Amino acid sequence: MGKSKQVGNHKSDKKKHISKTWKTKRRTKDLDQIHSDMKPDTATKLLNQEVDYDVTGCAQHYCLHCARYFTDMRSLKEHFKTKGHKKRLKQLREEPYTQAEAERAAGMGSYITPKKVEVKTQAVEEDMD
Ligand SMILES: [Zn+2]
Repeated sequence: MGKSKQVGNHKSDKKKHISKTWKTKRRTKDLDQIHSDMKPDTATKLLNQEVDYDVTGCAQHYCLHCARYFTDMRSLKEHFKTKGHKKRLKQLREEPYTQAEAERAAGMGSYITPKKVEVKTQAVEEDMD
């Protein structure tokens, strides 16, 4: 007989703790949301936000791919070197471009997304130190 495969037990039952999922403070965007953030229009807006004093770094230092704000340019650049950020870029490359595909299937717009998404760390101004 050996091991029995547990089915329907706590390990696979993620939806059990909905409240927990909702309350997660550090929850970032889903990959598909970030994919839509990466569209040039949206990306430009996100990377050139107005000064918002309620947001870390007044919303001036944003990592598009991780949907995170940083206090200053230095920490943003440091973040680009981290494992987490590189992992994120890789994930974004591999994730199918579902949103665009859906839009194409619906015949919306003429913009055709390349099959492979090119994901690069955003350009940063090099005017600091
Ligand atoms: Zn990042």
